Amino acid sequence: MSAVPLIELQDIRKRYGGLDGAPAVEVLRGVTLSIAAGEFVAIVGASGSGKSTLMHLLGCLDRPSGGTYRFNGHDVAGLDADALAWLRREAFGFVFQGYHLIPSESARENVEVPAIYAGMPEAERRARSAALLQRLGLGERLGYRPAQLSGGQQQRVSIARALMNGGRIILADEPTGALDSKSGAEVMALLHELADAGHTIILITHDRKVAQQARRVIEILDGQIVADSGSAAAPVSNLPPLDLQQAGRDGGASAWDDLREASRTAWRVMWINRFRTGLTLLGIIIGVASVIVMLAVGTGSQQRVMAEMEIFGARTMYISPMPQSSRARSGKLTLDDIDVIRQVPNVTVAMPYIEGQVMVRRGNIDHQTEGGGATTDFPAALNWSVSHGILFDQSDLDSLAKVAVIGTSVRKALFADGSDPIGQDILIDSVPFQVIGILTSKGAGNGEDQDERVIVPLTTAAARLYGHTNPNWIAVQIGDAKHANQTAEAISAALEKSRRAKDVRIYNHAETVRVQSETESTMTLMLGLIAAISLLVGGIGVMNVMLMTVRERTREIGIRMATGARERDIMRQFLAEAVLVSLVGGIAGVIIGVAIGLLLMVWNVPVIFSLRAIIGAFSCAVATGLIFGFMPARKAARLDPVIALASE
Ligand code: ADP
Ligand code: MG
Repeated sequence: MSAVPLIELQDIRKRYGGLDGAPAVEVLRGVTLSIAAGEFVAIVGASGSGKSTLMHLLGCLDRPSGGTYRFNGHDVAGLDADALAWLRREAFGFVFQGYHLIPSESARENVEVPAIYAGMPEAERRARSAALLQRLGLGERLGYRPAQLSGGQQQRVSIARALMNGGRIILADEPTGALDSKSGAEVMALLHELADAGHTIILITHDRKVAQQARRVIEILDGQIVADSGSAAAPVSNLPPLDLQQAGRDGGASAWDDLREASRTAWRVMWINRFRTGLTLLGIIIGVASVIVMLAVGTGSQQRVMAEMEIFGARTMYISPMPQSSRARSGKLTLDDIDVIRQVPNVTVAMPYIEGQVMVRRGNIDHQTEGGGATTDFPAALNWSVSHGILFDQSDLDSLAKVAVIGTSVRKALFADGSDPIGQDILIDSVPFQVIGILTSKGAGNGEDQDERVIVPLTTAAARLYGHTNPNWIAVQIGDAKHANQTAEAISAALEKSRRAKDVRIYNHAETVRVQSETESTMTLMLGLIAAISLLVGGIGVMNVMLMTVRERTREIGIRMATGARERDIMRQFLAEAVLVSLVGGIAGVIIGVAIGLLLMVWNVPVIFSLRAIIGAFSCAVATGLIFGFMPARKAARLDPVIALASE
């Protein structure tokens, strides 16, 4: 037998109050006591005599105000919170009058709780919990929740839980207090059995008859021991001794296991409170969904506008006569205007264009298309090149050459036989032309098929097709898009001066494009703001729901701490819950956002989903949960185990 007692209290005192003007009460007034391994001790005393307080101190749930507590010869006062948690987990098993089971967990899961914090592998844990419950006669009730069990059954579950990690020392506070006499007798029989098996049993009761069943009876009155039947040759426990050197060193549950457990619990709690949680999540859901939808619609419509804009370049302007001009001047553009426009600073290209419907014919195929006369500036002015063959050159313009460049739609219509158009002859309004090139395809920009087009030298068009030299419009390219407005004004002023009338219209594509991109950045800013606000609202919602959860489950937190959870285990669990909650909110937001986007697509709204936006909004939601869940989780982790246990 070792000379060192398992538990040794020296002049232990516990005071309450003394703060905030509350009178200080000394509940334990110098308790000196030693208990050897394997003893079966009853501590008996009237209600209010300090028994529960003493038990909390013995079980390291609370710290004394004075005196020393040696466990296995080690002063417990020197242990930090983690080491105390380790000691509770490895050395003690608590059995409470009120059972203190976690209401949302099954009998088996309740029994497994201490093993989770001890890091026992799941398979072993399940087997052991089932075996323990079997042994205590609850083999048929593994999946029952506490509310579905009788008081006696619940107490047996709590005894099984106390034994889960070995239960070297069983601390039982009024274990029969809430039970009928038959169940009470059963529980007492169980304690006897455990004592015989070598467990140290400390039984607390106000009932002398119950206390008499123990091998040693200690009587407490007003916080002092008044009688002790003494340990008559205390039996030595045959359970392996604990090495306190190890306290707090081993990691407890592995992070991964712990996280899995935390997620499982979190999921269950969330499911139980699904309505409340759902309401709280609206902020996050709306935030995530609105960011996804708005960005998708924004990108979609912008893309559509840009696609139309950029067909002829982002730095293009078009100048055309005012329509229905009733001025004295005919309002027609002239080739002189080209020279005026070219003088304006920032203008790099100015190209006259004469256009009008023509009938093209090859063999017996007639085809109506848009004809046009252009200069060699055509590629530069309209960002439009020849993909096949060549464009006419200056000598063609000078000699009024009858050469044509056709758009791909015209090619399709006239050369459906697949022959190479280059070098072939076609008729344009009955005038023979030779095809020398094919334009690259521009598609259906501006709502029209831009490839439905045939162009010839401006001079030829004027002389042979249209009979006049007045351009229908002039395409202008500018150097610096930032000065699009000034350039347009300068062109307008120069033309007004030379034409002595303000009779042209300038269609400033360049400016529209610039405004469009500015609108885009404003919209991005707005979206960011919306996202930030709704995530803030969502975050506050998460915090709110977590604070509620912590308050409602304070006793559960106490139970978990009593069974060996460290601060970081509790912290991890509540953080996992917060993250899970916002994860669900984020997923719901993504689903709803994408669904709305798809619905809009059906209604022909241009929608382009951005994976980056979806991932971004989603991760922001999860981060929100982490950030806003931190405070409630820390609050939970810092609860005092005794106060948490006492809460209702
Ligand atoms: P018992 O378990 O023997 O009935 P307790 O140990 O629960 O007694 O309580 C002993 C005394 O300590 C009681 O008078 C009780 O009011 C007081 N007490 C217990 N806990 C607190 C506390 N947290 N703050 C102030 N007084 C307390
Ligand atoms: Mg009590």
